[in-house]
Amino acid sequence: MAWSKISKAPLIKSTKRVSPDGLWQKCEHCHEITYRQDFAANQYTCVKCSFHFSIPPDERLRHFLDGDSFLAMDEDLRSKDPFQFCDAKPYSQRLSEAWEKTGNYDAIVCGEGLLYQRPIQVGVFDFRFMGGSMGSVVGEKISRLYQRARQKRQPAVLFTASGGARMQEGIVSLMQMAKTCAALGQLKEEGIPFISIMTNPTTGGVAASFAMLGDINIAEPGALIGFAGPRVIKQTIGQNLPEGFQTAEYLFTHGMVDLICHRTQLRDKVGQILQILVGSP
Ligand SMILES: [Zn+2]
Repeated sequence: MAWSKISKAPLIKSTKRVSPDGLWQKCEHCHEITYRQDFAANQYTCVKCSFHFSIPPDERLRHFLDGDSFLAMDEDLRSKDPFQFCDAKPYSQRLSEAWEKTGNYDAIVCGEGLLYQRPIQVGVFDFRFMGGSMGSVVGEKISRLYQRARQKRQPAVLFTASGGARMQEGIVSLMQMAKTCAALGQLKEEGIPFISIMTNPTTGGVAASFAMLGDINIAEPGALIGFAGPRVIKQTIGQNLPEGFQTAEYLFTHGMVDLICHRTQLRDKVGQILQILVGSP
């Protein structure tokens, strides 16, 4: 038989058991295998050990808000790629790929909706979109969210999940830290509450600007929250870091976070906090 006719089938049969795509979810923390439907109903948290997985913005909003009350805003904003940046591939190509993956033009979904009949302005980072990095579009959408909250006198709620500023937009992305904080400052002058909910991970320029400036700062269990990563800090100071450094629990113990709340209880908890802060809707 000619070599070209020899079957390309693998010589060793895989003994790995393959389940239909998406039917089961394995927890990377406790290795429990859960029926995916139950996992989704539990808002992407492990039913056994409560490990919090990343959750897409639409799923997050569906669980957090009343029914189908969410109305997206500023959906069409897109980055102009101010520096025509190119590293391993052009920034414009990265944006297109992220859009294809997520269906969003950038790393945050913003809009308004009802929480226990109370109108709120709400935004959710999408970590799947270039690591939830903040460039000109994310900064603009957050600033507009705070402005709408101020004009309509509605509380603002933001769920963060971000690696920080977007390096492909250089100084323009760093400017978003100041811009968002200025808009937030105007909201605070009016005495309208801002609830910041930090999810895994909330780091870099996002942690170092509005994410830590909530009237109430909430974190999901186990979330990594900090500015520079632990490896960079360790190399810079030349010392070992304490156990659990930069986790939500460590920050709570040291007074940087007001509350740690399981994802499935966030809707009730934020509803109660707003009831206390601003009264009945
Ligand atoms: Zn688990």
